[in-house]
Amino acid sequence: MDHQPDPSTYNCLSCAKEWPCDPAREHLKATTSDPVQLAMRLWDELEDAAHVLANEPPSVLFERFLKWTW
Ligand SMILES: [Zn+2]
Repeated sequence: MDHQPDPSTYNCLSCAKEWPCDPAREHLKATTSDPVQLAMRLWDELEDAAHVLANEPPSVLFERFLKWTW
């Protein structure tokens, strides 16, 4: 998939939107059958992203990375 996060900014490398962008979310949903697995996968991403996006409030990161998964 082209829509991967840039590790230094956590913007999408393909469309430059905040990752996970819509195509990335679609891809993650399509390739992860179990909602719990999906949330765990995004939780790992959130942990990495939290270092890069340290200025973002936790609630914003939560909505961006996890809320849409269920
Ligand atoms: Zn993208």
